[in-house]
This record gives sequence, C-alpha cells and structure tokens, in this order.
Amino acid sequence: MAAMFPDGSLVVLSGELGAGKTVFVKGLAKGMGLEKDTATSPTFNMVHEYRGERELYHFDLYRLTDRSELVEILHEVTGTLKSEEIYHILARRVGRALNISKCSIVIASSKADVGIVVATYDNPMLRNLEIQLNGYPELQQALLTNTPLLVADVSTDPLYETVRGEWERQGIDVPTRSAIALPFDLKGKRAGVFFLRTTGETVPLTETDLHFAATVIRAAVAAIEKGYDLESAVSDREKFQFLASTDALTQTLNRRALLEKLSVEIERGKRYRHELSLLMIDLDHFKAVNDTHGHLVGDAVLRQLGEILIDEARAVDIVARYGGEEFVIVLPDTQLDGGTIFAERLCDRVAKHNFGDVPDKLQVTISIGLTGVMSGEGPSVEDIISRADAALYEAKNTGRNRVCRA
Ligand code: GH3
Ligand code: MG
Ligand code: MG
Repeated sequence: MAAMFPDGSLVVLSGELGAGKTVFVKGLAKGMGLEKDTATSPTFNMVHEYRGERELYHFDLYRLTDRSELVEILHEVTGTLKSEEIYHILARRVGRALNISKCSIVIASSKADVGIVVATYDNPMLRNLEIQLNGYPELQQALLTNTPLLVADVSTDPLYETVRGEWERQGIDVPTRSAIALPFDLKGKRAGVFFLRTTGETVPLTETDLHFAATVIRAAVAAIEKGYDLESAVSDREKFQFLASTDALTQTLNRRALLEKLSVEIERGKRYRHELSLLMIDLDHFKAVNDTHGHLVGDAVLRQLGEILIDEARAVDIVARYGGEEFVIVLPDTQLDGGTIFAERLCDRVAKHNFGDVPDKLQVTISIGLTGVMSGEGPSVEDIISRADAALYEAKNTGRNRVCRA
C-alpha cells in the first residue's frame, strides 16, 4: 500500500482558505517586485487579478510595501542554519503566504520511488516521513517533467486513474480535491517539490493559484539561498579561524593565537582588577627522547602532553604550544597560589603518565615557570612571558620536574 501522510489520508484540512483571513505576503513583496513605485509591475497586476478572482483573500496591499517580512525570513534562516529547519521555515512561510495549511515539502530525485516529506505547514513536528511516490502521481509527474503541475479536480483528473482505483479497492476516502506540485531548485540543484492541497469543502486550486504559488515560492527560495550563502560563508570563516589558530600536532592554540588572547586577558584583568596566572611549561631532556626513540615517538609525547594540558585546564583557560616542546597555559582570574596548586598537579600527573605503548614504559617530566599578574597591574605580553621564562630557567637549574615562581 502506498504510504500516506501521518493522518492516514492525503489531506485532512483544518481552517482552510477561510473568508476574512489576511494573507501575509507583505514580506515577500520585495522578491515579487511589489513596492509602491512598482504598482504597475506585472506581479502587482497579477496579485490584483488574483485578489479579484479570489475574494476569500484579503491582501493588505498597503502592507505589501513593507520589506520587513523578507528581512525576517532571512533573519530566521540565517539564525538557524540547519537545512531541516530551513525546510520548516519554507513550508510555514509559503503556507502562510498562500493561506493553505496543507503545504508540504517533499524531497526526491526525478527517478526516485520514494520521497521524504521534510516539512509540512500544518504539522511542525513532522520529521522526514517516507512516502511511496507511486501513490502521488502529481509529485511523480512534476519531478519527471520538472514543471509545476495543477490538478484542479483529483476525482476526475486522468493522472489519478490508477491511484483512484487503488483507493477504491482499499476503501480509502481521500479528501483531496485539488493539488499543486511545484518543483524547486536550491543553488541550481533540484531540491524537492512543494505540495499544496485543498479538500472538498474549500475552493479548489486554480491556474492563478499556481502562478501565485510559483511567485511566492521563488521569492522564499531566493531568501533561503541568501541564507545558505551566509551559512557557508560563516562556516568557512569558522573553519579557517580554527585552522589558523590551532597547532596541528597538539590541537592546542598556536603561538600567534596565544599572544592575541593573552593580550586580551591582560587588558581585561587590568580593567576589572582581576588577577591572572601564566605557566611556561617545558619538557625535560626531550632531546634525549627523540634521540633514543625517534622523532615519531617524540611527536606522540607532545600530542599526549597537549591532551593532558587541555584535560587539566578549565574551559576558560588558554592552552597553547609556544614552540618546539614548550607550552603556555594562561589561567584567567587565578591568583598565584591557585596557579601554583594547578602547576604542581600538572607536574605530578605528567611524571606519573606512561607516554609509551603499554607495556613499554616511557616516562617524561616537565618543568614549569609560573608568574602572575597582580590586580590592577598591566604588564606587556613580552614582560609577562619573559618573567615566566626566567622562572622556568630557575626550575631547570634547580633540578627539573618542578615549579618555580617569579
Ligand atoms: P631541557 O630539559 O633543558 O629542556 O632539555 P631538552 O632536551 O628538552 O631541551 P633542548 O632545547 O636541548 O631540546 C629540545 C628538543 O625538542 C630538541 C628538538 O628536537 C625537540 N623538539 C622540538 N619540537 C619538536 C617536535 O615537534 N617534535 C619532536 N619530536 N621533537 C621536537
Ligand atoms: Mg625548550
Ligand atoms: Mg626541554
């Protein structure tokens, strides 16, 4: 049996194309060229005609001059960014603009047997419902020909001959009276079909509805495409920023990102009189690790050390590879005593960790130079780094595997 929409039939209508309902097309005005000074444009005339033909609709033409709804659509789209959400917005916007509650979006390729209903206006909770397209000849036809299709009367249209027989055989009372199937593209690719339907008690859909629907959908799709552009621009920028600020081996921040963030933290600390701790961390006798086990093992040690540092740090802390086998951790809002406890815990954890493959043991230790920025003090980035460096030098000279403060 052909899969049906969740209500068990093709259509269950609620609050159909009722009289006195305002059709909110104002936001689509721009896409449709409906602005005051374009009142003589073909689109404007089309809407006028449309209005005359369907007295059920109450176009508020004054409001058509308002572009805010299109801006709203864009805002909604760019704010959510998931294609699933975008389809729901499209179904809702188009359904609302046309005042047809049975407005669905079905995704399918031209030769597919199965379509996925990704959104319907009257059931916002619906998610990815699979339908057998052989139960929906209007969708199949529209997909195959890639042209909009109007079925003014489902009960007589020859297109439905086969399915009508099937409905009869199975005793299914299909209330659909008329339907529109409108294929649409997103970014030059077939995205799916808008599926609009009415039931028996309401005025059936006409050619004029088809043209109007096509215009509204074109405008809404254009808005969505703008959203997509923004989406990919945003995610490309985010990806780029991540790559540009991350050390590839250890996934900690790189030196450039560290210096940038550190200067922001110093400024912030100065303004709000917060203290800050900074750790300069260096692997002890790391050259010997490379010499004994090779560079690949050396790299694995650096990678694991990066993991430990990230794991020990809080989300607000800055963990960075400063160079070679040196790391820096910045602890915002942390006094030197707190910084010392943190640094000592780190030393212990690293010393106890097995950096080799079990059962082969590989132990390394780290030395840490610790410094703090006092409340109200505003040192330069270079100052604070060289202070930590001096403390690290002392830790190396006094035996390694330890924390020294400056
Ligand atoms: P100290 O305890 O005084 O810090 O001794 P050390 O051997 O750690 O210091 P030194 O500065 O003499 O050597 C640092 C070593 O770190 C040498 C270099 O090959 C190694 N190193 C730096 N970057 C990398 C890297 O990305 N991968 C590997 N495997 N080794 C690295
Ligand atoms: Mg070093
Ligand atoms: Mg070293």
